[in-house]
Amino acid sequence: MASFSLHGIAVSQGIAIGRAHLMAPAALDVKHYLIADEQVEAEIERLKSAIKAVHEELHTIRTDLPKDAPAELGAFIDVHSLILSDPMLSEVPLNIIRHRAYNAEWALVTQIDELSAQFDEIEDPYLRERKADIQQVGERILKVLTGSAIHLPPTGEAAANIIVVAHDISPADMLQFRDSAFAGFVTDLGGPNSHTAIVARSLDIPAAVGMHNASALVKHDDLLIIDGDAGVVIVDPSPLVLAQYRARQERLLRERKKLSRLKKTPAITQDGELISLVANIELPADAANAWEAGAMGIGLFRSEFLFMGRAGHLEKFPSEDEQFESYKQAVIAMKGRPVTIRTLDVGADKPLDEDEETALNPALGLRAIRYCLSEPQMFLTQLRAILRASHFGPIKLLIPMMAHAFEIDQTLNIIEQAKQQLRERKQKFDEDIPVGAMIEIPAAALALPLFIKRLDFLSIGTNDLIQYTLAIDRVDHEVAHLYDPLHPAVLFLLSTVISQGRKAGIPVSVCGEMAGDVKWTRLLLGMGLLEFSMHPSQILSVKNEILNSDLRLLEPQVKKVMRASEPAAIAAAMAQLQALTSEQEVKESKVARRR
Ligand code: PEP
Ligand code: MG
Repeated sequence: MASFSLHGIAVSQGIAIGRAHLMAPAALDVKHYLIADEQVEAEIERLKSAIKAVHEELHTIRTDLPKDAPAELGAFIDVHSLILSDPMLSEVPLNIIRHRAYNAEWALVTQIDELSAQFDEIEDPYLRERKADIQQVGERILKVLTGSAIHLPPTGEAAANIIVVAHDISPADMLQFRDSAFAGFVTDLGGPNSHTAIVARSLDIPAAVGMHNASALVKHDDLLIIDGDAGVVIVDPSPLVLAQYRARQERLLRERKKLSRLKKTPAITQDGELISLVANIELPADAANAWEAGAMGIGLFRSEFLFMGRAGHLEKFPSEDEQFESYKQAVIAMKGRPVTIRTLDVGADKPLDEDEETALNPALGLRAIRYCLSEPQMFLTQLRAILRASHFGPIKLLIPMMAHAFEIDQTLNIIEQAKQQLRERKQKFDEDIPVGAMIEIPAAALALPLFIKRLDFLSIGTNDLIQYTLAIDRVDHEVAHLYDPLHPAVLFLLSTVISQGRKAGIPVSVCGEMAGDVKWTRLLLGMGLLEFSMHPSQILSVKNEILNSDLRLLEPQVKKVMRASEPAAIAAAMAQLQALTSEQEVKESKVARRR
């Protein structure tokens, strides 16, 4: 087949070369094709055996239910078994295959659509809701048919040459991939700062998103190259192109090896300012990588990942003890270095489970602290778990998405309540645990004194701050090109927060994706930022940039960037900022020339 390339959005750097592994779609979005007469019986058998497998699956779930499981749960599974046995689902699709020569998935989806339409007509709201049950049973059959369960990428060494191609991957799905070190991934949907992209970046593998129809154009087992810096995927490359990319891949590896010498070096600028480089993690096990990469602590533990993908659990939320163990694990792994745990931030592109209904403008809806304040018991449970873990090492509490003074006050009250509950239980915790806020809503950045007065530290979430300032959904690839950290409004908010924080003597860090991208290191340094929080894999390259920076040169140049308001003038000032050479670099190049 002729080679071709697809263009999307770069989300994770590097070059990956491997064979395509197509992930089956999770929803009722399946391939439609007609089958030949002689295949009809085999296709019918395929559907029959999928239905049988789901029968067995439901039976196992039913018999394995713990004794104390709520009665509704058993009833719910019984309803699904009944639906599965109904001829409307177990026979009509077989007839569709027989008479219309549809493939099994198409036949099944056709019948589910038909049944769903009939349910929509029903007056009784209870019965109307049973449509969801039919769809869930349908999805179970589809999962067996498309083999999505077994279509998960292989683990271990076999994964090293695999590139996962999918229409979309949810943040929860990405979590499942953590144990399979595959070479890269490509999706049709997604923006550069969607949570899925962030998790991919934390896996430190090349990736490209927003590829539109890659999952339709790429075939299973196609040879692919991902150019993670350019957001390009080359399908079936020619031998020459392949050789060029292999050479580039090796060069990158060598550069990385060189950087690894900096692991133990402190991040000090040429003029002697010590910069704190800390890590963003999603799960407690990631703390080991953070330590390994030389992180001075954890700047952002996205605790919501402990809450995601719990569809199979009886409880919607993890229990206090379960959470306590996770937080404690992270604290112990960091051996006395501070761990900043962000309280639950769900909603928008981070639904608790895949089936959750999303609001009209989910990113503007009941997300993060808004959700937590509306679920006080759940919030108290999390706070108690975090507080208990603070007895085992330094923890800082970080609260997402606050904008209003009353939200801060209510949050501080709830924290006090959680402390009081632990005192009554005689459980130990750090009485002076620092509490900070994410500055990620423009209103918060513009009303900083409200935050400075009430809190101990601030952390700028540039991913959301940019999303909300420019009104760009960070998940939507259609508007990804408008996501611009150099927009004058974004620059103004960033520098305002950093300088006001410094003036007030309150620590400010940046934990959004900007902090881990060397493109922005000098800009943030020149604005006065002293703490950067990023994926462990980005720490060494940012450190390298810091070691080669001199604040005495950067600060006046960043002022020029700030004074420029036209995009071209900003870009020119940024180019000069990057070109500034520190005395050290000048010395090194002289030495190199003499050799
Ligand atoms: C941010 O918004 O920049 C941030 C760090 O939080 P999240 O990406 O999890 O929303
Ligand atoms: Mg955020």
